[in-house]
Amino acid sequence: MRHWFHSVNVRLSGGTFVLIAVFAVPSGATAQASAFNRQTIIVRSYTDAGSAGDIRDAKRSAAAIVRRADIDVLWLDCTLPDSVETRERCSLPIDWNEVVLRVVPAVAADTRRDAEDLGFALVVVNERHGSLATVYSDRVAARSRRAGVDAAELLGRVIAHEIGHLLLGTNRHGSRGLMRASWTGADLRRNLATDWLFLNKEGTAMRVALAARARALDPDRPAS
Ligand SMILES: [Zn+2]
Repeated sequence: MRHWFHSVNVRLSGGTFVLIAVFAVPSGATAQASAFNRQTIIVRSYTDAGSAGDIRDAKRSAAAIVRRADIDVLWLDCTLPDSVETRERCSLPIDWNEVVLRVVPAVAADTRRDAEDLGFALVVVNERHGSLATVYSDRVAARSRRAGVDAAELLGRVIAHEIGHLLLGTNRHGSRGLMRASWTGADLRRNLATDWLFLNKEGTAMRVALAARARALDPDRPAS
């Protein structure tokens, strides 16, 4: 079966691939409480002109998927910053709750990757977190045409999938839901709602990871 999504693990020297912990809710009551609160992430986006027509709807679709996992998405468009303030924010080091999204043609990105990949997420496994996701706008558009489905919606689903990798901190895929490795044309046309959502355990894992990152940077931060 083809894997149309792929993530790269960056292993730090001396590190090990220990992924299972990211799916485990910490035993402390404090951590559990924060994990069930809504979280907010900021996605800095860089978009090529070719996908400009679809990107607004795609962002809306992606945010709706992530929101169903009780994580709100704020977009920071760094392609053509609309103000001095935005330009300055885009130039700052990324914060604990920020990730970077590139939507670019495959020919402008890493062409060594599998020709069927629609995108990838760069994940630092030791830290169980990733900060950079790339989505191939030309491949998504071609695939939507072949399947006869809406390009913007598919783009949004791919974006949400790659954000999922970044927040989960793993290249693993699930057997069900949005984090499946392969999306067939039949899957796309069937458009079953549950195929395009995170599983409950994935939503919990993402919120746990975000809460843990916040506390790691600010131990005095209230858990709630
Ligand atoms: Zn994937």
